[in-house]
Amino acid sequence: MTDFSHLVREANLIGGAWVGADSGTMIDVTNPATGAVIARVPNAGADETRRAIDAAHAAFPAYAALPLNERVAMLRRLHQAILDHQEPLARMMTAEQGKPLSEARAEVGSSAAYVLWFAEEARRIYGEIIPSPVAGRRLMTTKHPVGVVAAITPWNFPSSMLARKIGPALAAGCTVVVKPASATPLSGLVWGHLAEQAGFPAGVVNVLTGSARAIGGEIMTNTKVRKITFTGSTEIGKDLIRAAAGTVKRVSMELGGNAPFIVFDDADLDRAVSGAITAKFRNAGQTCICTNRLYVQSGIYDRFTAAFAERVTALKVAPGDEDGAEQGPMIDEAAVEKMENLLADALEKGGQLVTGGGRHARGGLFFQPTVISDATPAMRFSSEEIFGPVAAIYKFETEDQAISLANDTEYGLAAYAYTQDMRRVFRLQDQLGYGLLGINEVLIVTPEAPFGGIKESGMGREGGRQGIEDFLDLKYTCIGGL
Ligand code: NAP
Repeated sequence: MTDFSHLVREANLIGGAWVGADSGTMIDVTNPATGAVIARVPNAGADETRRAIDAAHAAFPAYAALPLNERVAMLRRLHQAILDHQEPLARMMTAEQGKPLSEARAEVGSSAAYVLWFAEEARRIYGEIIPSPVAGRRLMTTKHPVGVVAAITPWNFPSSMLARKIGPALAAGCTVVVKPASATPLSGLVWGHLAEQAGFPAGVVNVLTGSARAIGGEIMTNTKVRKITFTGSTEIGKDLIRAAAGTVKRVSMELGGNAPFIVFDDADLDRAVSGAITAKFRNAGQTCICTNRLYVQSGIYDRFTAAFAERVTALKVAPGDEDGAEQGPMIDEAAVEKMENLLADALEKGGQLVTGGGRHARGGLFFQPTVISDATPAMRFSSEEIFGPVAAIYKFETEDQAISLANDTEYGLAAYAYTQDMRRVFRLQDQLGYGLLGINEVLIVTPEAPFGGIKESGMGREGGRQGIEDFLDLKYTCIGGL
């Protein structure tokens, strides 16, 4: 087994120095599969955050002024450093987050791919020459890094969520202050170590762990922070949007989802079942684009439910580092209790338990992959993000009904549909209120494409050629008297 201890940093990176919290207190990092404490990280607060912001602010002018070739070379070295450590990074992630190793490896690979993508995009930060309406003038736009960027990320994708923020920020010429989730700080702190290896100057990348309220409070009120990029729950995202108003920071928000997965009568059944397994049970159902509601048309409903339940029952539930593990533990006890409560609510309201239904025999934070049929809009999971391995199947009759049910939510992140009818595909594209659409496909996320939601799922895009724009200020210059 590959060891990852050489990559563990039990300190924060502030202005190029690895330091503890002022209070000397630490937070335990536990393995959700075993409950064992695997590391301890600083419990930093507002003062440490202020110093990290000062360091990023001081490092900004020189970093922003570096020749583009040097910035790109550092990003390429960062990409290579991630790949060089792919296996220990994946094992570290599985140890603190719980996901199967195959998924952790893929996430680390994806992080590297995002960094490379933004290294390439750094060369395409184009301005414009605008035709002047009068003689003797030259009109143009140019793009400039926004300055100090603060990034706050969740525990479910502890590496790639940072890659999509640190990558474009550094490519744009910004400096960063990063706060990873307290449940998975190691995969966040290691970015500081890798950035040092890649040659980024002191103060360009700063990483803090500790009290979300204290760190977040300082970030949101500090005038030196010009942009906040956040991935996490809609509830906290709304608080941060409100707080950003005080100093009018640029804001990017990747928030919660409630993804519909629509299976029409004409769908390729095997493909739809495989897609539903991945879309629902990846990371034990703990992803923002995991399907929350499976809408299945009446003509295929029974066959789909039977085939899906058979595959779900066969999923291997095991610690993420065990061979063949397909579903690891949940992140914490509160997440397991939420599954129990959502299930009890659905069964009370007429839902039928098809498979699973409670805690797994492995004990601890393991939960059985579960399917409930005959779901209805009155059940709590119709409007709440499940964020766990519980699949709810609803029956529908017509396309209009499916679209209306799918759109009946304040969220708008991802939606999936399975159909062979291309005319229907374009109707869905026009009518589904989501930022991401997977048609006959669920593995839709890639650095080349813009990722992000609409409605209460957020604002801004990560990845794609759009992903760097949020880190750039646009300036217009008019030169007269020519
Ligand atoms: P969360 O509770 O909102 O936490 C996210 C991050 O915010 C963590 O680092 C957390 O720190 C921090 N935080 C908590 N309270 C804060 C405050 N008052 N001020 C500043 N920061 C604060 O979300 P989570 O439970 O970690 O993640 C799950 C959620 O993320 C789900 O809703 C999921 O849909 C969403 N998500 C969205 C996307 C997307 O791309 N749209 C991707 C992944 C996940 P602590 O850990 O220290 O509390």
